[in-house]
Amino acid sequence: MARPTKGWIGKHDGVNIPPRVRLRVYDAHKGICYLCRLPIKPTETWQADHKVALINGGEHREANLAPVHGHCHVAKTAKDVAEKAKVAAIRKKHLGIVDAPKLRGAPFPKTRKAARREQHAATKLPLPPRKSPLFQPKEATNDAS
Ligand SMILES: [Zn+2]
Repeated sequence: MARPTKGWIGKHDGVNIPPRVRLRVYDAHKGICYLCRLPIKPTETWQADHKVALINGGEHREANLAPVHGHCHVAKTAKDVAEKAKVAAIRKKHLGIVDAPKLRGAPFPKTRKAARREQHAATKLPLPPRKSPLFQPKEATNDAS
């Protein structure tokens, strides 16, 4: 029988979880995914997940680890990141910290047609008549005769 252990604690958050600790985490949860509660099959990839994510103040220690499927882990990580971003946004708003305004480049140059349309909208003058070969105003023909 294995002697009881106090539980592994990472010296810092970047330390890899040793294989013996991964095995203990797997065994402690009887090989069942912590998130979907389904057994982890030998062919499936699994990871030791931090129940409370490191970015949300969780500790890098054995007691905070649980086995999860690779695909379950991806979804949880996305949720953890979204939670962190929301908390940070709320705290920044509460403390009156404003993000620097985003620098914007010059807009794309306007086409001649768009520039003319914009100029017309500003002056509110009627547009000049179309120059169509099929349509000739009658006044022009009267002046000529
Ligand atoms: Zn799962």
